[in-house]
Amino acid sequence: MEETKQLIIAIDGYSSCGKSTLAKALAKSLNLLFIDTGAMYRAVTLFALQNNLLDSEGQPDSKKLEQMLPAIDVSFDISQSIQNPVILLNGENVQNEIRSVEVNANVSKVAANSLVRKKLVEAQRKLGRTTHVVLDGRDVGTVVFPDATVKLFLTASPDIRAQRRYTELKQTNPSFNGTIEEVKANLLERDHIDTTRADSPLVKAADAIEIDNSDLTMEGQLELALQIIKNKYSQLQK
Ligand code: C5P
Repeated sequence: MEETKQLIIAIDGYSSCGKSTLAKALAKSLNLLFIDTGAMYRAVTLFALQNNLLDSEGQPDSKKLEQMLPAIDVSFDISQSIQNPVILLNGENVQNEIRSVEVNANVSKVAANSLVRKKLVEAQRKLGRTTHVVLDGRDVGTVVFPDATVKLFLTASPDIRAQRRYTELKQTNPSFNGTIEEVKANLLERDHIDTTRADSPLVKAADAIEIDNSDLTMEGQLELALQIIKNKYSQLQK
């Protein structure tokens, strides 16, 4: 692939659609910086949980959260790998902590806060300004990089998403003892909050290409995405 234009690949979609898996595979194939924007919202949520900024319903105390924002530094450590950088909260590796059940349960409410979004969107734009990137999230093709080179919108059936997420949680979190029904309820709740919030709701960009990966293998999905990217990129070089 010729490198005359900055490549920005934006992947949006519902919860647990395999966006990060695809983004990481693309980062590896094309040697791109991978920005997991969901991890950034998760890190802010972890901070909010650690500092008692959420009520028992998981609603953030907006005033307190907004006051604390300057004290929250979310960044990525790219020293080991640009294709799978480590998420840092105030300089500390929180890769595992941000995948907890508590963070899952609260992240969409924290992510609905406009000042949180403003701060993280600015950071994402800064990261993507100087290098070829692949980002995944809910608003990366609509708000963060509306001029992205390629926009993909991933979907999969709720049952398949719940099954994948349940298997992942079982494998990665030894203390996880939830049921598949609970996992499905959590991802549908997050979808609901993400698609109905006032600021930057999850929506498919008009120029995004939809991939339903319900019946695709990871390899099949990667191949399809690479084909779409190559076609788009070669059109842009003309
Ligand atoms: O992608 P992941 O499931 O880790 O994202 C966690 C949550 O962060 C999402 O459910 C959503 O509420 C929020 N998010 C967002 N905008 C993004 C990425 C994630 O609002 N760009």
